[in-house]
Amino acid sequence: MALSGIQIYKLLPQTNCKECGFPTCLAFAMKLAAKQVELSACPYVTEAAQKQLAESAAPPIRLVTLKAAGGEAKAGNEVVMFRHEKTFYNRPGLFVRVKASEGAEAIGKKVAEADAYKVNYVGLDFTLDGFAVEADGGDFAGAVKAVRGASKRPLILIGKDPAALEPGLQALTGETPLLYAANASNWEAMADLAKKYTAALVVSGETPDALADLTQKIQAKGVEDMVLDPGGKNMSQMLTAWTQLRRLALKSNFRPLGYPIIAFPCDAKDEGVAAAQAIAKYAGFVVLSEFKPEAIYPLLVLRQNIYTDPQKPIQVTPGIYEINQPKPESPVLVTTNFSITYFAVANEVEGSGLPAWLVVCDAEGMSVLTAWAAGKFDAERIAKTIKGFDVASKVSKKRIVLPGHVAVLSGELEAELPDWEIKVGPREAVDIPAFYKQVLM
Ligand code: SF4
Repeated sequence: MALSGIQIYKLLPQTNCKECGFPTCLAFAMKLAAKQVELSACPYVTEAAQKQLAESAAPPIRLVTLKAAGGEAKAGNEVVMFRHEKTFYNRPGLFVRVKASEGAEAIGKKVAEADAYKVNYVGLDFTLDGFAVEADGGDFAGAVKAVRGASKRPLILIGKDPAALEPGLQALTGETPLLYAANASNWEAMADLAKKYTAALVVSGETPDALADLTQKIQAKGVEDMVLDPGGKNMSQMLTAWTQLRRLALKSNFRPLGYPIIAFPCDAKDEGVAAAQAIAKYAGFVVLSEFKPEAIYPLLVLRQNIYTDPQKPIQVTPGIYEINQPKPESPVLVTTNFSITYFAVANEVEGSGLPAWLVVCDAEGMSVLTAWAAGKFDAERIAKTIKGFDVASKVSKKRIVLPGHVAVLSGELEAELPDWEIKVGPREAVDIPAFYKQVLM
């Protein structure tokens, strides 16, 4: 059973030294009980206390990390059922499946194309996370080598026969791949294989009882990193199974089911919808049938939106941004540092080909209206930003364009910046190019 904050507090040094980043040991204990900090943040816990606290310190869903020369794919360590309760931490890895029977040349080509995929969304670069190689009767080791020749990202090796999977594992020295899958009939051999090659292991079972039985047996054989495959014939069954597993892990702290989940939308009737469901609730690894940018992009954006901390908006760094090589006579546009606001404005101006200085104020990551309502985007703050970044030294014509939504600030800003001409721009970013041509040229 997990310990309460007070029980944890009694095991801490109680010196309130603050080295953990909290003002008191009690505050740290409360955070530890809520599984929002790591026990290692306190350097003074005795060995005896560490043992007692291990249960409380361990995350309810084990963190499983797949490793390869080209990066890592992490799943687990989640602490809430719903994102609005706190946040989801480790974004589910998106993997594209290839089959050994496709042949090395075709696999290499397919993987190289998918591996090179990179797309930018509000300043963030998105890529795929890895590949799944299925032993379906062809040259499995050759298939794994072909993938490795084209990508260094983490791998999932799929096959029910341990003897067929082993040649693939031999080609991945020094890596931590994920093996799929141990079931009631092959679990011993699969556990041996996972242990021998330090791989993580998927455990497949149709009911929570069957899964829990297998994870305990496999753990007893020395394999710690496991991933659950509860199966499910349709989306409704999958959602029910995944939700049940998450509840048992988080709400009942049932350790035998405290592992990430793998999803195979590639086998579903409507793959895109099934993948979206898996990302939302509650997959840690998602295997897709093929690489299609038009299908992958919305999944990457959906994933980003779900795995963004709702308490910390995505932000850009405050500063002065040059768009279309502005000249001293170019206008100065002002906005906030909420990423979506910034990119809405920057993209419109950039797309118009018109030069401008874009000054981004620190509004704690809020959009213009929200920041204004919260007192984070006012005349004083804008003036401070203009002065702080010495915008005046870059321009010969001192003109500031305020977002139309905060027209009310123009008078106060004139008082704060008496040397500057203050113009009120449009409310929507999409209207900036027309405004620019009509008013600023
Ligand atoms: S570092 Fe340890 S001893 Fe110091 S305040 Fe934090 S919990 Fe207490």
